[in-house]
Amino acid sequence: SSTPVNVTVTGAAGQIGYALLFRIASGQLLGADTPVKLRLLEIPQAVRAAEGTALELEDSAFPLLAGVDVFDDAKAAFEGTNVALLVGARPRTKGMERGDLLSANGGIFKPQGEAINSGAASDIRVLVVGNPANTNALIAQTHAPDVPAERFTAMTRLDHNRAIAQLAKKLGVANTEIKKITIWGNHSASQYPDIFHAEVGGRSGAEAVNDQKWIEEEFIPRVAKRGAEIIEVRGASSAASAASAAIDHVHTWVNGTAKGDWTSVALPSDGSYGVPAGLISSFPVTASGGSFQIVQGLELDAFSRAKIDASVQELTEEREAVRALGLI
Ligand code: NDP
Repeated sequence: SSTPVNVTVTGAAGQIGYALLFRIASGQLLGADTPVKLRLLEIPQAVRAAEGTALELEDSAFPLLAGVDVFDDAKAAFEGTNVALLVGARPRTKGMERGDLLSANGGIFKPQGEAINSGAASDIRVLVVGNPANTNALIAQTHAPDVPAERFTAMTRLDHNRAIAQLAKKLGVANTEIKKITIWGNHSASQYPDIFHAEVGGRSGAEAVNDQKWIEEEFIPRVAKRGAEIIEVRGASSAASAASAAIDHVHTWVNGTAKGDWTSVALPSDGSYGVPAGLISSFPVTASGGSFQIVQGLELDAFSRAKIDASVQELTEEREAVRALGLI
């Protein structure tokens, strides 16, 4: 059998980690032919809980799981790693200022970027899930100057999947009928889920819906605020769906997008669509040969342009704030 791929998961003892690890170990991240070694990173007070999860992973006797190690040190956790899923982050708590949130996360993502830079495998791919994901990814990427910038991505796949599901439900079609959904901008309430370029049975998503009011007043806010809806209904934040989207993101990165479709990924901008270079912003992307390419040449009407600009403006402000704090 082939050499195991090293997968590091941070925040491994958290809710998302608990859902994610079993799917990785079962082969859903990299495929049924690829053995994996899991490297779990946690803060010291959560190491014991992560060790408990490691026992459960052992008890599952996954054919593809070649080992599980638990760490409380970033340098050790990222040694030789091929895929890094950065899930652990400092959540915003009541009354916390944005600067405090960004500083706390700088304290997490700067050393992780440095550890990836010095110790990860040369084919390292990084997905940041922990919020504020785009800016956390920017911090880590900045501190890994020897790693190609495009190996650092942040997750908008859950937003993308939510948008597919909402549109399919509205139109009474299967999820598989919806192609080319795009999430633009920041993984935050300012994101822009775009169905103007989506395709459903030979028409654009917007034409198929034919209801601008629904798009503006129901669809966009529903997708953008779905996380809050889950918290209200479930009594806890989304975890299994976030883990599922993380699996999708990496699986697509490695295996490619289907012909005639694309996905949404937050990655360092090359200036496409007027998004300032270097900002980690979500775009429509295809994947092939193990890398993402931003879909070029889409026409944006005034409505879409304004929505994208607003979300990109928020990312620009986050970048300025972390710069002012000396985090990048
Ligand atoms: P979760 O596992 O529920 O969430 C982890 C992160 O994912 C949060 O930042 C959360 O953001 C984010 N997230 C992104 N998208 C979503 C989504 N759609 N739905 C829900 N969350 C989303 O958090 P837990 O508190 O259960 O676990 C976090 C773990 O991380 C803890 O065990 C903690 O010890 C650990 N940790 C580890 C660190 C490390 O390894 N160095 C550093 C910091 C924490 P949001 O808060 O905005 O929901």
